[in-house]
Amino acid sequence: MVVLDYQPSPSLHRPQSETFSDSPFWDNSPASTLALFEDAPNVQAHSREKISYYFPKGVGEYHYGMLHPMKPARLTLTNRLVLGYGLHEKMECYTPRSATREELEEFHDQEYVEFLSTVTPSTVPNASFSRFNFADDCPIFEGMYDFCRSYTGASLAAARKLASGTTDIAINWSGGLHHGKKGEASGFCYINDIVIAILQLLRYHARVLYIDIDIHHGDGVQEAFYNSNRVMTVSFHKYGNDFFPCTGALSEVGMGLGKHFCLNVPLQDGIDDAGYVGLFKSVMERTIETFRPASIVLQCGADSLGLDRLGCFNLSIAAHGECVRFIKSFGLPLLVLGGGGYTIRNVARCWAYETSVLTGTTIPDALPSTPYDDFFQPSRRLHETLGAGRVENQNTKASLEKIRVKIMEELRYLHGAPSVQMQELPPDLAGGWLEEDKVGDERADK
Ligand SMILES: [Zn+2]
Repeated sequence: MVVLDYQPSPSLHRPQSETFSDSPFWDNSPASTLALFEDAPNVQAHSREKISYYFPKGVGEYHYGMLHPMKPARLTLTNRLVLGYGLHEKMECYTPRSATREELEEFHDQEYVEFLSTVTPSTVPNASFSRFNFADDCPIFEGMYDFCRSYTGASLAAARKLASGTTDIAINWSGGLHHGKKGEASGFCYINDIVIAILQLLRYHARVLYIDIDIHHGDGVQEAFYNSNRVMTVSFHKYGNDFFPCTGALSEVGMGLGKHFCLNVPLQDGIDDAGYVGLFKSVMERTIETFRPASIVLQCGADSLGLDRLGCFNLSIAAHGECVRFIKSFGLPLLVLGGGGYTIRNVARCWAYETSVLTGTTIPDALPSTPYDDFFQPSRRLHETLGAGRVENQNTKASLEKIRVKIMEELRYLHGAPSVQMQELPPDLAGGWLEEDKVGDERADK
C-alpha cells in the first residue's frame, strides 16, 4: 500500500539497489509503511560526490544561559560523533572565517546590526531592546555577536563553495537559524544565515529552492523572499494552537512576483514517520520538477524528532534522514543546514546520521566512543527509539491528503509562470570571492 498515493516520477532516475525499507532501523514500523519507502532514492555505498563540511572553531562553546533550551554545545556533540564515525575522511573539512559586518548587512538593517555588535549582557535595557525584540527567547549573552558571525560565516563559505561549482554538497550544522528577521531577533535567532547564504547563491543561480523540516515554520526565510520568484520556500511544520511563530498557514503562498513561489505544509501534533515522509516526498518531487531549481538549501531542524524538548512530532532519526536522502537524490547542488533541536543527544545523533547519509556511508548503530559518552547513556545507540507514538497523532490520512491535493493545485500555477531569467548580477561584495574562499576558509586538520 502506498500512503498518500505517492508515485515516483518516471522522469527522475534514481538508483534502486538499496531502499530505506531495508534499513535495520525500521523494525518497529507496521508492514504497511514499508512500501512507502520502496521508491526511496539510494545513496551509493561510496558516493562520488564531493562533500564539504564546515565547522566554525569554538561555535559549540557559546551559552544562551543555563535555563535556555538552545544549547550550542549540541554542535560539539554532533561534531564528535561525525569524527568518531570517521565521516570526516569522506569530506573536505573547513574551519570557516566569521562573516563580516558588511556580509550581515547584505540582509539585515544597519541599525539592527549596530545594536547586535555593541550590546553586552551588562548593557542597561533601553528602548532598543524591545524595538529589536531582545527578551526571554532572545537573550543577550556573552559573545552573542561573535556567535552570529561564526555560524553565518560558515553558511556563507558553504554557499560560495557551491556557487563556485567546486563542491556538490556543503554542510553547516551550526547554521539554519530561520526565524531571524531583517531588523529583529526572533525565536533564538539573531542573524538569518540562511537568507544571507541564499542571497549569495542567487548571484550565480537563477532559482534557489529552500526546504525547511524544522518543527517551526521557516518564517524569516519565507518573509525575506515572499515577493520573489527566484526563491521558492517550502516549510513543513506544526501549525495551530498558538504554536510559535503562528505563521505558515496553507494559504500563505507568496505575493506579487512571488505569488505561488511559497508553499506551507501545516501539520498537527504527533505526526508519524509514514505520514510525514510520504507527504514530504510527494510535495518535494513535484516542486523540484516544476520549479527546476539550480540549487537547494535544506534546513534540517531536529526539533521535529520525537521526544524533542520543545517539539510534539513523533519522527524517528531514520525518517528525518530519509527526507535528507530524498533531496540529495536529485543530484542538485545542496546546502545542508541545522536549525532547531532541543533534546541535544538526539540532535547530535540525527545530524551525525544525516552526515553519513550525505556522504553515502553506512555507519553502525553503536555510537563511537567520544568524551561525551555519558550524554548517550544508557543505550549508546544511534537510532534510539524516540518514543514513537508518545504524542497522539492528530493528523489523519484524510487531513494529509487534503493538504497534498491543495499543494498540487498550487503547484499547477507554476507551470504558467514566466521562465525566470538570470537577472543582472549584483557586483560581489569583496570582488574575487573565489580567491577569498581559498584564503578565508582554512582547511581543517583531519
Ligand atoms: Zn524549531
